[in-house]
Amino acid sequence: MVDALHTTLQESKTDQVLIDRYAGEAAEIVGAENVSANQADLLSTCRDYWPVGNIWRAEGSVPALPQLVVWPHNTEEVSRLLALADREKIPVTPFGEGSGALGGVVPLRGGVTFDLKRMNKVRAIDEKNLLVTVESGLNGALYEEQLNHAGYTGGHFPQSLRCSTVGGWLSCRAAGQFSTRYGKIEDIAVSLEAVLPDGTIFSGRNVPRTATGPRVDHFLLGSEGTLGIITSATLRIWPLPEKRRLAAYTFERLEDGLEAIRLFMRAGTRPAVVRLYDSQETGNHFPDLGDERCALILLIEGAAKIVEAEASVIEDCVQSRGAESAGYKHVEHWLEKRFDISVASMLFQKGAVLDTIEVSTNWHNAHSTYRTMQEALLGVEGTMLVSGHYSHVYPEGAALYMTTVGFPGEDKIAYYKKIWQVAMKACLAEGSAFSHHHGVGLHRGLWMAEEHGTGLDVLRRIKKALDPHEIMNYGKLGLGEVQKWQK
Ligand SMILES: Cc1cc2nc3c(=O)[nH]c(=O)nc-3n(C[C@H](O)[C@H](O)[C@H](O)COP(=O)(O)OP(=O)(O)OC[C@H]3O[C@@H](n4cnc5c(N)ncnc54)[C@H](O)[C@@H]3O)c2cc1C
Repeated sequence: MVDALHTTLQESKTDQVLIDRYAGEAAEIVGAENVSANQADLLSTCRDYWPVGNIWRAEGSVPALPQLVVWPHNTEEVSRLLALADREKIPVTPFGEGSGALGGVVPLRGGVTFDLKRMNKVRAIDEKNLLVTVESGLNGALYEEQLNHAGYTGGHFPQSLRCSTVGGWLSCRAAGQFSTRYGKIEDIAVSLEAVLPDGTIFSGRNVPRTATGPRVDHFLLGSEGTLGIITSATLRIWPLPEKRRLAAYTFERLEDGLEAIRLFMRAGTRPAVVRLYDSQETGNHFPDLGDERCALILLIEGAAKIVEAEASVIEDCVQSRGAESAGYKHVEHWLEKRFDISVASMLFQKGAVLDTIEVSTNWHNAHSTYRTMQEALLGVEGTMLVSGHYSHVYPEGAALYMTTVGFPGEDKIAYYKKIWQVAMKACLAEGSAFSHHHGVGLHRGLWMAEEHGTGLDVLRRIKKALDPHEIMNYGKLGLGEVQKWQK
């Protein structure tokens, strides 16, 4: 059945004789039960949450298929399996839980997918230094649960917490909903252990900071499986907060809310959650607030005295921009609903093309980027709704998260390409960065040259040096030609 399945983006496959030989040798390393060419395993690791993959799946095809899946248990096994693949020049795709949004796990050249979920141990919690060392395949929710049990939090709560891994977060530079206090994952990561394509294992030091040259392990952050496999990481942890305060406000205009946030970040406060919704999203998420004002929800946590002081500074800043208090119940509602994406599934089933596009803005262009992207997206025939909110805020700016919904009729893929072309053009013209946390994957590789300029050539040279046989996650991060998707 797998052979008969239509693949839309498969660029090539490895000679089956080589794959069979690799399977035999891999079985000696990880055990025969941890090597599979079974159709269910190939299908379940062949794609992620990229909407294009979902559209094709609904039509009975997949973007591409691996030829084999392996489940290593530890770093040593990853090293031996990778060295073997490198020797035979067999393509390798790392797979966490496949929650990526941009086709990052699509095995364009077939080969072997490394499903890392069996590498799922918390190796050590270091209470004195507030560090945890954890294997990369551990599920996000299980990771946080284990930390909570010991009296700590990892401070990282992506909406995909329950369907993503620690290694996926590090590979994509993920951001959690509490990032304004705890940081993005690259701020939380102290050091990484990883395996390079030739099987070399290296690990960074767990000291707070170094001035010993560029950090090789940090270089893997955001590399999306193109330079090697992250096998474990040492991350910061925090004692569970003593106090939490919730507060919601509304503003007449989005710009007023943005200015209030800029002011309290400038004053040095770091609330864990800061989310400012445009009027459409305010109406959708909090119907009792109506759809004419813009809601800001805040969650401040930590030591009780610090929380009180932060709340007081924030109150002054939001009042200075004409905020109306909306109590705290809307934040409770958000906390209850924050992992619920059922509306997206419902719209998909009704034939909608829905996607989210998160970009990184500075304060001077945070609002104009929203306006320009919204106008561009609404200009595409078939688009019904474009809304946005800001979250993950910094002293220097904020992430802008746009949601776009369209009913394009027949050619959904052409429509999808069109909305991304106009959105990325608008974002880059504003001087904003084209991704804040979803990453690049396969799809956003199309804009890497515009995003990085000569920097892309530097990345390509590094890729060539570390992965001369181009075995690692071919065609991602804009590092290799992707013939079929580019057309
Ligand atoms: C409903 C939903 C909500 C989301 N919310 C958020 C959010 O709030 N914040 C956010 O940042 N993202 C979010 N995402 C995107 C996604 O969850 C993240 O990108 C996540 O980090 C991916 O983790 P994963 O384990 O599923 O990785 P996968 O999708 O399996 O892989 C992602 C990429 O990393 C590579 N990779 C995976 N593991 C390793 C490893 N150990 N070593 C090297 N390369 C590896 C893969 O090859 C691939 O290129 C969301 C996605 C969905 C579907």
